[in-house]
Amino acid sequence: MSFGSGRVWMNGRLVDWKDATIHVASHVVHYGTGVFEGARCYQTPKGSACFRLDAHVARLLDSGKIYRMESPMDQGAWETAILETIRANSLKACYIRPLMYRGYSQLGVNPLPCPIDTAVLVWEWGAYLGDDATEKGVDVCVSSWNRAAPNTFPAAAKSTANYANSTLIKMQAVLDGYAEGIALDTLGYVSEGSGQNLFIVRRNVVYTPPVHSSILGGITRDSIITIARGLGYDVREEVLPRELLYLADEAFFCGTAVEVTPIRSIDKVAIGSGRRPVTEAIRQTFFDIINGELPDTHGWLTFVYPDEAHLRERSAEAARAR
Ligand code: PMP
Repeated sequence: MSFGSGRVWMNGRLVDWKDATIHVASHVVHYGTGVFEGARCYQTPKGSACFRLDAHVARLLDSGKIYRMESPMDQGAWETAILETIRANSLKACYIRPLMYRGYSQLGVNPLPCPIDTAVLVWEWGAYLGDDATEKGVDVCVSSWNRAAPNTFPAAAKSTANYANSTLIKMQAVLDGYAEGIALDTLGYVSEGSGQNLFIVRRNVVYTPPVHSSILGGITRDSIITIARGLGYDVREEVLPRELLYLADEAFFCGTAVEVTPIRSIDKVAIGSGRRPVTEAIRQTFFDIINGELPDTHGWLTFVYPDEAHLRERSAEAARAR
């Protein structure tokens, strides 16, 4: 199911992709009054599984709470809707986009009279920054656009409005020949990419900007911190001055879309020697959990087709018994 086909979940109903439309007078179209998520479903040896589905739905509800959007569905109902949408499209692996937005009623700025509409889109989506990004690493720049100041656009909310800033960062980077831009916060400290968090490694210590550096608290970031600490690395959430980017031995982006993508250069300054032992160890562990090479000890996987997982488990048991 590529982008542009299949079934879309809208306000409790599955509709054809072409019918998943909203009125142009919907509040969200004019004022960016939506909150959303991006999650992934992976094909694992035990069947298709969503990575940290519960955390993504929890963040969606948190984003809604910040914007005074009371979700018409609770945590469990959202998780069910997402799993149903993947099943309705018979997908093995996909990107998942749940969305909650202020719909059609009136067009004053006050969103409160407008209904809260819900949708779930799913589609197959491969490597976000290009197929060879994982191998070669990406060339990025520091953006001349900053992340929004605290107490302006809340960074903790994954709100559609925040992505106006992200598109400025992304367009500038792409038009200047870079794969991505790294934004600083309004104090000049390192924040994050247009749609991903950032880690650097220096002298075997792993650093990432803290939540008060205007970042979205990424679920991949959280997973990476857990994985890196589990591997024995010293991981520090610290305010990072821009110049530390250039002095890094390794740097990488992480996020649902980019997964773990190494950075080769920043502002044309080569990162380290080009060797990436720490990034590789972390990346490998991340994918080993998804690929079933390592046990899912953190309970990060939610199986989409439980019967399938059950059947595979039984046939593996049978094979072992033989
Ligand atoms: N920062 C921004 C601005 C993002 O859009 C994303 C993607 N949701 C991330 C960080 C990474 O978050 P996650 O790991 O939860 O996908």
